[in-house]
Amino acid sequence: MLAIEIKKLNKFYQIGNSKFSVLNEINLEIKQGEFVAIMGPSGSGKSTLLQVLGLLDHSDSGTYRLFGRNLENEPPNVLSDIRGSMIGFVFQQFHLLAKSNALQNVCLPALYTDITNPNQVAENQLTKVGLHDRILHTPNELSGGQQQRVAIARALLNDPPIIFADEPTGNLDSKSKIEIMLELQRLHIEGKTIVMVTHEPEMAEYCDRIIHVIDGKITSEERKKKTMDNPYPFQNFFRRKSGWNLVKGIFKQSLFSLASNQLRTFLSALGILFGVVCVISVMALGEGAKKSVEEQFSSLGANLVIVRTGGMRSGGVSLEAGTVNRLDIDDVSAVSKKFPEVKQISAVVNGRAQLVFGNRNWNSFVTGASPNYESLRNLDPIEGRFFTEEEENKRALVCLVGNTVVRELYEGKNPVGTYLKINRVSFRVIGQLPEKGSTGYRDQDDVVLVPLNTAMRRLLNKDAVDNLEMELDPNESSESFTKAMKQFLHERHGTNESMGNIYQVMSMADIQSAVSETNQTMSTLLVALAAVSLLVGGIGIMNIMLVSVKERTKEIGLRKALGARESDIRIQFLMESTLTSLTGGIVGLVFGILTVLFLQEYFGWTIVLSFPSIGFAFLFSISIGILFGWWPSEYAAKLSPIVALRSE
Ligand code: ADP
Ligand code: MG
Repeated sequence: MLAIEIKKLNKFYQIGNSKFSVLNEINLEIKQGEFVAIMGPSGSGKSTLLQVLGLLDHSDSGTYRLFGRNLENEPPNVLSDIRGSMIGFVFQQFHLLAKSNALQNVCLPALYTDITNPNQVAENQLTKVGLHDRILHTPNELSGGQQQRVAIARALLNDPPIIFADEPTGNLDSKSKIEIMLELQRLHIEGKTIVMVTHEPEMAEYCDRIIHVIDGKITSEERKKKTMDNPYPFQNFFRRKSGWNLVKGIFKQSLFSLASNQLRTFLSALGILFGVVCVISVMALGEGAKKSVEEQFSSLGANLVIVRTGGMRSGGVSLEAGTVNRLDIDDVSAVSKKFPEVKQISAVVNGRAQLVFGNRNWNSFVTGASPNYESLRNLDPIEGRFFTEEEENKRALVCLVGNTVVRELYEGKNPVGTYLKINRVSFRVIGQLPEKGSTGYRDQDDVVLVPLNTAMRRLLNKDAVDNLEMELDPNESSESFTKAMKQFLHERHGTNESMGNIYQVMSMADIQSAVSETNQTMSTLLVALAAVSLLVGGIGIMNIMLVSVKERTKEIGLRKALGARESDIRIQFLMESTLTSLTGGIVGLVFGILTVLFLQEYFGWTIVLSFPSIGFAFLFSISIGILFGWWPSEYAAKLSPIVALRSE
């Protein structure tokens, strides 16, 4: 069987409008086991011919059979697999991966081709080329001759029947040249078919046969020696590595390439890192704000509506609230009679008072209200009980105290059963109020609650009430209720709209939905902004990936020469970009959570770290990696092996 059989091979390069012929009607037969030199002046098409023979480049017409197989119409994947299984390449520029050691370089073909025990094979090959003590050296720790010997060992890893060498001694000193030629001769003696391009007659002396090429044509040939009779046994055409092992190997390569470029990886991950920190903390803040609003409002009571008197305008002078038209105690029954949608109602008076317990003093807020204030405002005592209707009617001297008062006067101990002096009048403490927190401008726990009549007659000396607080049927529209309520109060107290905004009706449900809506808008906006920073991070990754692809064009060409399919290159670069963004995502996640905890700890903000937000950040950073890695990896995958190898 012939190793190579070429008939009427032509190849052109298009330069501007004119076609330029590099290979012109080439006919060539090379027997198995032959050691052939292709010689000719520079620019005569030697390399182009070798690249067509080595399936790195394609011809424009003619037939090519390799070990009997016609390769005219084979798709790129088949050509990749054949390169990986059948062919060994040795290049003038060695093409070793700079950051990998000799052993790793020699093992590279095993990434794409199924080779049993590649490490062992690689070590054996390195030993055979005399580098057993250099296997952990990187290329820059090796001389040119040693590097080329590593490259020869790499070409032999897949045990190919044929080897193509393009000026393998072109970059070497004369001693190394001889070493390399002796290596090739050794392989020749083993029976391998070798096709070598050279312009040095001394090197061609080692070969059986010399073919002279001038201007893309074979002009003459000379035979030096007889061809070997016992050529190297023919290997399987296809030894492509299978799915899972292939992906595993490429994954390791991606990790290795990221790890050997740590600074670059870190910088490209940085954008994603900040983006994720932003998204996580903003989402946590948004959730926290929502939760704290909900808590605040639910602690106020369900569907609470508060009516209070505002200032009256008289000739441009604003009179103090409550000075003219005051709400009175009779409004309570009038309102319940007129408005069946009011489920319960209490009048409320407010004032300040000096509290004394033992030798402690505290100035606090006094509220007087009726017994249904307990359910109206969700005030179930945490200790003791609420006051009763009877106590209200008898103007009993009983009170409930808020948390702040308990802290200031009782050092946090149970106050129930003690006697507390409020403005020098002694009150029996019958209960402690649940904690309500602060509304921002007022501590709602700094309060003493007494029966309404007690407050009005015995403590604050008021005829009028300050507020009417009521629970509105949740099915009623608070807007029309507000209007009707104002109308009703104007009629009852002989006032009108033109006198100013006298009665203020506040519906907590309305306020809550307004606040929540604003919060929602704010947090959506902030999350969108944070997401934009993630996008910017993605663009950063894309840029750096593109630079990396450009910088590694030769590496891509080499991988293709060693049998990588387009998809293998695509997967590798996609993995690299995805791993980069994932790294940013995970580190960002950690920093995001730390940021949230920090804000919680030092600013006391209510922050809710939700799993959806973590999952979102995580998935988003992966998708960014895939999305923005797509174009660079596609670009890398589509590079033609020879264009990539020739790039500078
Ligand atoms: P050799 O190896 O014999 O020195 P090559 O095979 O590298 O020559 O190149 C043969 C001719 O083809 C040269 O004239 C070279 O300039 C030209 N050539 C090589 N590659 C390209 C290309 N990609 N586009 C256009 N011309 C090319
Ligand atoms: Mg050349």
